[in-house]
Amino acid sequence: MTLISKIDENNIDKEEIKKQAEILRKGKTVIFPTETVYGLGANALDEDAVSKIYKAKGRPSDNPLIVHIYDKKQVNNLAKDISEKANIIMDKFWPGPITIILNKKNIVPMRTSGGLDTVAIRMPSNKVAKALLEEVKLPIAAPSANISGRPSPTKGIHVYNEMNNRVDGIIIGGDCSFGLESTVLDLTSDIPTILRPGSITKEDLEAVIGQVNMDKALERKEDNIKAKAPGMKYKHYSPNAEVFIVSGKIDDVANKINELVNNNSKKRLKTAVMCLEENKNRYNCDTIVLGKDLQEVAANLFSALISVDEKKYDVVYTEEFSNYGVGRAIMNRLLKSAGYKVIKC
Ligand code: AMP
Ligand code: MG
Repeated sequence: MTLISKIDENNIDKEEIKKQAEILRKGKTVIFPTETVYGLGANALDEDAVSKIYKAKGRPSDNPLIVHIYDKKQVNNLAKDISEKANIIMDKFWPGPITIILNKKNIVPMRTSGGLDTVAIRMPSNKVAKALLEEVKLPIAAPSANISGRPSPTKGIHVYNEMNNRVDGIIIGGDCSFGLESTVLDLTSDIPTILRPGSITKEDLEAVIGQVNMDKALERKEDNIKAKAPGMKYKHYSPNAEVFIVSGKIDDVANKINELVNNNSKKRLKTAVMCLEENKNRYNCDTIVLGKDLQEVAANLFSALISVDEKKYDVVYTEEFSNYGVGRAIMNRLLKSAGYKVIKC
């Protein structure tokens, strides 16, 4: 049985938080909201507890987990060789949607780090997450609360539908405000490297610590290279429908998509287009509006991909977005969900 707690982030029910914290203290699993996506948590220092996360998600065991904390002091227990740049990032962006990779101390089990000598750490800003972490007083490993390979949940209802009875507790909070997973920044080398783009961008980071590189694995199809962030080598964010990105000038994109939609309807394939609000009247089929601007697209993308399955579409075409700022994070997730299929026009 899963204990379900509905918690309003503006009026936190401490008794419910205590019950869920107790579940975590017993070495069991609890899903909780964060500002990025919902996380599936367990005690990061307890190998058996962490094994339950992998089992609930069906996640490959070499894909490491992010350890969530509520106080910067906890970093010293988990990691060593903490550089000046790491301190600047923590002071400037925490609590918030950035995860840092540091060399790990032995207290962090290999099961948590996916067999690596490094550990990923983040301090979330979501009030419910903070209340839970403060109450439990343990570092909590928490990957996104989806079955491995599926889009990450950003709404309580999606978590409940997918994970009820697979975990010991679920805290249903509001919708996740950023909607894409955290930026992952490797701080173990002289020049920090972004392993996963998120809403804190390369430009935001360079403004405070100077040069930041993007991991090479982000630029090319991942199967061909040995990805440094192990999670990047797996199929990800995939609805059951086939997803294609259509790239080019918007008039050409709309013409191409409408031509493809015609062919699909002859084959009785149910088709939808994911697009910006301003373009929704260009298409001769169902549209899933992702938002007015890139911030809204980021917040809505995963719930849009989940709704694709709820509405049983066979094929989804999506517009392409600018590969700059938060657009980089959006395109990173979209390319994966499309299995890198891009139609150029
Ligand atoms: P998730 O928790 O589902 O958002 O996935 C966490 C991701 O963070 C993993 O898939 C990796 O890509 C990355 N990550 C976590 N720990 C490490 C680490 N020690 N080194 C490199 N990447 C990591
Ligand atoms: Mg994930």
